[in-house]
Amino acid sequence: MDRQAPYLREMGLVRWRFGSGGGGRSGPEPDSLASGTHVGGGDENPGLLSLAEQARRCERCELHRTRGEVVFGSGSPGARWFFVGEAPGAEEDKQGVPFVGRAGALLSAMLFGIGLSRESVYIANVLKCRPPNNRDPFGIEVQECSPFLHAQIDLIQPQIIVAMGRFAAQALLNSAESLSQLRGKAHQYRLNQLPLVVTYHPAYLLRSPAAKSKTWEDLVLAQSLLA
Ligand code: SF4
Repeated sequence: MDRQAPYLREMGLVRWRFGSGGGGRSGPEPDSLASGTHVGGGDENPGLLSLAEQARRCERCELHRTRGEVVFGSGSPGARWFFVGEAPGAEEDKQGVPFVGRAGALLSAMLFGIGLSRESVYIANVLKCRPPNNRDPFGIEVQECSPFLHAQIDLIQPQIIVAMGRFAAQALLNSAESLSQLRGKAHQYRLNQLPLVVTYHPAYLLRSPAAKSKTWEDLVLAQSLLA
């Protein structure tokens, strides 16, 4: 059986087969796993390590009072793909790692579906500390924390960004448009020609599985921009 089948089934995408030809869409080879993969930075990217240390000590917004662990980011410091979510949840706050639990498992399935792995991409949130009771981020928190995200992108220099959910999309594009207005098209991050695609947050997909096929379309769009 196709090794990717369980992951595609998880995405609700059983009708696609990677590399099958015959009208099916061929997927890429998985990115080679980069060495130096560490939560929060990387031995090969000292700037990222230094930034992670700054985040660990950060008290720029009130969330530092209630956080457990600062969730800086994880993955390859030389990643081509940079995935951005909203903020840590309860489990992430305990472990200090982004996208663990069910939403994280779905994100892993999404990545595998396009030939990627958690270790070969970089994953971070707009906010590095958990909002209490998983409330929506306040504007001031996004404003205070976003410089960390922009610096992470500058240091990693990915080739594409995937913004997952409204908060990530609006923060990265400096936009007030809704997610449905922003997704389904290619954007540009800042003025540096870096392509950015907006899609649904995996936590939303857990509540609304019908949106998985649209997410798949977004990931295929991102893949085409990278090619
Ligand atoms: S959420 Fe961001 S700005 Fe606020 S304390 Fe945490 S790291 Fe600092």
